[in-house]
Amino acid sequence: RWNTMTLEFESRPCNESFARVSAAAFLAQLNPTVEEVADVKTAISEAVTNAMIHGYRQEKGKIQMKCVLDLEEKVFQVTVKDTGVGIENVEKAMEPMFTTCPELERSGMGFSFMEAFMDELEVRSHPGWGTEVVMKR
Ligand code: ATP
Ligand code: MG
Repeated sequence: RWNTMTLEFESRPCNESFARVSAAAFLAQLNPTVEEVADVKTAISEAVTNAMIHGYRQEKGKIQMKCVLDLEEKVFQVTVKDTGVGIENVEKAMEPMFTTCPELERSGMGFSFMEAFMDELEVRSHPGWGTEVVMKR
C-alpha cells in the first residue's frame, strides 16, 4: 500500500516553506513523532534551498518535490529535483563544510544535515542536467 504526492513550484524563496509544510502535512498520515516531522522538514528545507541558491542561482526555474509513503513499512521518501546547473563532483560537494559560496555566508553543511536527519540520502547530479536528491526516513 502506497500513497504519492508531487508538487512543482517556482524557484522563489517563499516556496521553500510551502514545500516543507506541504511535505509535513502529507507525512502526517503515518502518525510520525514530532521529532520525525522536524527532521524531515529540516532535510527538505536544505534540499530546496540548495536547488534555489545553487541550482538556479539568480535565474528562475521549476523545482519538483515528489513524496512517496509506504503505508505498511511506514517509510517516507522524498525526491527534490531541479534542472539547474548541476554539480561537477558530487562526492566533494557532499563533504562537510564544502561550499562553493562562502561569500554568501554558506557553511557547507546542507548535505551533512540531510544525511544526519534522514536514514538514506542519494544525490544524482550532472552539469547541465540538474540535481536530484532522494531521501528516506
Ligand atoms: P549551507 O547548506 O550550509 O548553507 P551549502 O549550500 O554551500 O551551505 P551544501 O548544502 O552542503 O552546502 O552543498 C554543498 C555544495 O554543493 C554547494 O556549495 C554547491 O556547490 C553544491 N550544490 C548543492 N546542491 C546543489 C544544487 N541543487 N545544484 C547545484 N549545486 C549544488
Ligand atoms: Mg545548502
